[in-house]
Amino acid sequence: MAMASSLASPLHIKTSSKQPSAHFPGVAPCVPRNLQLPSMKFTARPSSSPALVIVGSAASTVGAEPQSGTATSAKLLPFRVGHGFDLHRLEPGYPLIIGGINIPHDRGCEAHSDGDVLLHCVVDAILGALGLPDIGQIFPDTDPKWKGAASSVFMEEAVRLMHEAGYELGNLDATLILQRPKLSPHKEAIRANLCKLLGADPSVVNLKAKTHEKVDSLGENRSIAAHTVVLLFRK
Ligand SMILES: [Zn+2]
Repeated sequence: MAMASSLASPLHIKTSSKQPSAHFPGVAPCVPRNLQLPSMKFTARPSSSPALVIVGSAASTVGAEPQSGTATSAKLLPFRVGHGFDLHRLEPGYPLIIGGINIPHDRGCEAHSDGDVLLHCVVDAILGALGLPDIGQIFPDTDPKWKGAASSVFMEEAVRLMHEAGYELGNLDATLILQRPKLSPHKEAIRANLCKLLGADPSVVNLKAKTHEKVDSLGENRSIAAHTVVLLFRK
């Protein structure tokens, strides 16, 4: 899904505990490989002031119009927890990519990007833990530049934002829900790639998979979903 283009105007996001305000570039969950994302910097204030200042320079990429976004209240807590959820339709004629691994199947995710339900979900969990807008706001699927994008780009950006905010991954627990194909032969490859993208030790990255008991779209092989919970801790 996404084709790179240059960002027109600088991005500035500032929040305070009193009057939070933020301006994000229109950004979507599916990004091109050579795409350079806007740089957002998190500057922690002294502990007496819990407000976090986020300043992004859009020297890059995203080329979207700045828009009013959700205020961030990224208080410097010792721990922050985040939850992510994603679901995609499965349609014939698309590759099935899960966690960056191409899984042989008779159908794949119809999506603006590469439709990697697991990576989207993990990105959303990290962004959520940081108190940032979700992946759909940062990388809008209405933007043609994200068409066919490799979701690893979103992961790289989420991990970068996490480190800039002064946090690192404590642990991650993800659950994939799909009726077919069986994921057990691919689980370790998916988990290994997830660890690589996160820069995390395998002992803190857990991946589970289950069916949907043949009910609803998930159980009828018409969709795939994922849930992720992450715990971040302050460096
Ligand atoms: Zn998605």
